[in-house]
Amino acid sequence: TPFEGLGLSPALLRALSESNYTTPTPIQAQAIPPALSGRDILGAAQTGTGKTAAFGLPLLQKLAKETPAKGPRKPRALVLVPTRELAVQVSDSLKAYGRHLRLNVTMIFGGVGMQPQIDNLRRGVDILVACPGRLLDHLDSGHAKLDAVELLVLDEADRMLDMGFAPSIKRVLARVPKQRQTMLFSATFEPRIRALAMEMLDNPSEVQV
Ligand code: AMP
Repeated sequence: TPFEGLGLSPALLRALSESNYTTPTPIQAQAIPPALSGRDILGAAQTGTGKTAAFGLPLLQKLAKETPAKGPRKPRALVLVPTRELAVQVSDSLKAYGRHLRLNVTMIFGGVGMQPQIDNLRRGVDILVACPGRLLDHLDSGHAKLDAVELLVLDEADRMLDMGFAPSIKRVLARVPKQRQTMLFSATFEPRIRALAMEMLDNPSEVQV
């Protein structure tokens, strides 16, 4: 399949073909090569364009290539999302694309009990998919640790700003190592998104569909 020209690993190509994906969508074709090379990404894409795989495949490949530190695994990738529904969608997609890799995906969102999430965090996490508010609760109580994060994704950043998450995002950012790869996706590149991108991204590759 044309996915083969993008530099993805055999384990990911196998999962894609099992999901009956034959051709990369435009956002995937544009974002995957620079993301795999370690570049930061600023992406303009609506839901339905395949943006989850555009950031998810490079994310999975990067984590699978490295051996995690010994001991209970701390998140090496953090995906911030505005809503519980998107957390579930992103997490399901990452699990499907990563089905031949041994990476744990854990979700954090509000409106449900804290304890099951604390138990999941204790068991060890590779990829954390989280809504900002509840993530801060787990950070403040010391149950979530972000000092091992190498890869940060903001999905639907414009919706997160609409929902008033800007201060929460800034507080989360302060807990994530500066040395990292960052990908920011939004429906548009409006000025407030450009401003957030300036703060968070280093010489990003811009992709737009
Ligand atoms: P997303 O924009 O990431 O929410 O993806 C929208 C839908 O397109 C989801 O149902 C994906 O499973 C599907 N999808 C994403 N990429 C591809 C692809 N390259 N080929 C076929 N379906 C895809």
